[in-house]
Amino acid sequence: MRISHDVHVHTNLSSCSRDPEQTPTNILQKAADLGLRTVGFTDHLWVSDLPGASNWYRPQDENHVLQIRSQLPAEQHSVRVLIGCESEFTGTACGIDAARAEYFDFVLLPCTHFNLLNFVRPEHIVTASEQGALLLERLDQVLDYDFVTGIAHPFVAAHQGHIHDEMCRFLLQSDQLSRCLDKAAEKRISLEITKGYFPQLFGKEDAQFHDESVMPILEKARRAGCLFHFASDAHELRDFGTVLQMQPLADQLCLREEDIHPLFRDPAA
Ligand SMILES: [Zn+2]
Ligand SMILES: [Zn+2]
Repeated sequence: MRISHDVHVHTNLSSCSRDPEQTPTNILQKAADLGLRTVGFTDHLWVSDLPGASNWYRPQDENHVLQIRSQLPAEQHSVRVLIGCESEFTGTACGIDAARAEYFDFVLLPCTHFNLLNFVRPEHIVTASEQGALLLERLDQVLDYDFVTGIAHPFVAAHQGHIHDEMCRFLLQSDQLSRCLDKAAEKRISLEITKGYFPQLFGKEDAQFHDESVMPILEKARRAGCLFHFASDAHELRDFGTVLQMQPLADQLCLREEDIHPLFRDPAA
């Protein structure tokens, strides 16, 4: 398969995007220039009347995130636009529910924002094996939500690069990983292949975080029959389009168009 979609893209509507150029108009122009056929916008979301939001999430409610519809340019250059969101799961609270998932073309749910201390990750969970165990517990839980289209960056914990290689080894040794992959495959919930898995591909040296570490996990997921989607998780315009640099990894994994979530497949393929 040829990578032709990026369905994890933030815009200015996300509080953590600080690039004034990160607008739907600029993103769709760049998508057309690069030959991308499908773009999915996924700003951070916590629905206003669902309990448990942090102060950071609270202003990023459905009214805020859905402003994107009025920001879409008339000229979309034949790029297919999907309006999604990246909500949140804390282990006890979820930022979206089935009724509100209907507002969106698709829903990404993350389970690994482990930088959000005492919100997503309890502070006593520290080591690679502790965080790996938490990841598997949370992955299993987010796969219970039937309205979820895909899991955002399931196999990397945010800002925990110093334990990444070790955590991947932990995951691969766990029976729980196989159970989660079987569950994702059965429920046809897509697993994200994100730029964030591959620091070396994007020019960053890291002694504890190697591009190769996640590959056996992704291979195992493919063998389990999982669906996938590709993602830049771009917050800045210069990061949008980097999804195409992952093509050699897609080839290495022998991914076929059928391995991509049906919603995100190339309509022309
Ligand atoms: Zn995320
Ligand atoms: Zn994101």
